Amino acid sequence: MGRVIPDPELSPRRAARAEAERLATAALTLPQTPVTEPNSPTPPSRRALRASSPSTRSVRTVFADTASNPTFRRRRLGAGVAAVLVIVAGGVAIGAAVSGVSGEAATSAVADGAVATVTGPPAVPDAGLPVPQLAAVAATATPCDDPTFTAALSAGDDGAAIAAAGGGSAFREAVASGIAPCVSLSDPDRQWVVVNKQRPLDPLDYRAGDLVMPDAVRALEQSALRQAAAGALTTLVRAAADAGAGEIGYLSAFRSFSTQQSTYAGRVAVGGVDEADRESARAGYSEHQTGLAVDIVPCDGSCATLDDVAGSRQGAWVREHAWEYGFITRYAEGRESVSGYEPEAWHLRYIGPELARAYHEGGYTTLEEFFGLPAAPTY
Ligand SMILES: [Zn+2]
Repeated sequence: MGRVIPDPELSPRRAARAEAERLATAALTLPQTPVTEPNSPTPPSRRALRASSPSTRSVRTVFADTASNPTFRRRRLGAGVAAVLVIVAGGVAIGAAVSGVSGEAATSAVADGAVATVTGPPAVPDAGLPVPQLAAVAATATPCDDPTFTAALSAGDDGAAIAAAGGGSAFREAVASGIAPCVSLSDPDRQWVVVNKQRPLDPLDYRAGDLVMPDAVRALEQSALRQAAAGALTTLVRAAADAGAGEIGYLSAFRSFSTQQSTYAGRVAVGGVDEADRESARAGYSEHQTGLAVDIVPCDGSCATLDDVAGSRQGAWVREHAWEYGFITRYAEGRESVSGYEPEAWHLRYIGPELARAYHEGGYTTLEEFFGLPAAPTY
């Protein structure tokens, strides 16, 4: 927690917001700038105005740093709207300043139909600056107000919902910032469900309704996956073979509540509770119970063990390419304090291609940080 990684995508909406921030920054510093100096016949250029104000980058940095504060996240929608009001007010200030409008009430439409009324500053002579265009400025809106998004959610179409939210990064940002309460990270039927030592399955004995064996993948156990994950695993395994990375098989995918009970009890019997908790989940707390996780093994003729994945060519290929097929390495090196588990190069978790792309491109190494959730080192 606490680490904020800038969103690499500069969507049209973000670009518009960045432009508005820049204009607002210039506008807010306008009174300190000598627009008309008696001995200066030439009005200051926009470049000069910009140079005298804090850079957009520094404004952005403040936003990014503050976003790691949970309280800030909860208030972010409100802050977004407030920021727009400031931006609109600032833009109006520029407009009034440069066009000589005096004390005139200006009204600007804000996103979602809200209307902000602001009063312009005292008159100043026309400085000849262009009036900024504010039509593209929009408040941060929650996807939960978008009928296309909520219809996709209701239909159980995770991919369509993410697309309606503006893609994986936009979806992640909406959920992590707390403006999308209609999205539940506890819903086990969703590709974005997060299960860890602090977040058990709900219900505890959850069992997905669409478990299937993946086609054309060597299964060392009769262990199924949810349909979307199974199809993605088939594609991933074929792509690895086509790339010359060798055959990928798997040991264990879906494990039921009762199977996990005996798996965990077996670990406790061998190494005690502490060791078992570092390596295996208690029943009702395992990602394997979602039907979205799979433990792969490298197969060169015969299949090797889970511990052989990290050093194998199959493991190397998966580290590089699994995200392209919707999978992430859920328990990464050095992240035990957040994920709760020692690194498992073999344990892949399906989150769908859109979210996996956002995870990869954002440089995330835990699903907890990806969604802004608390660390879950222990039960
Ligand atoms: Zn596993």
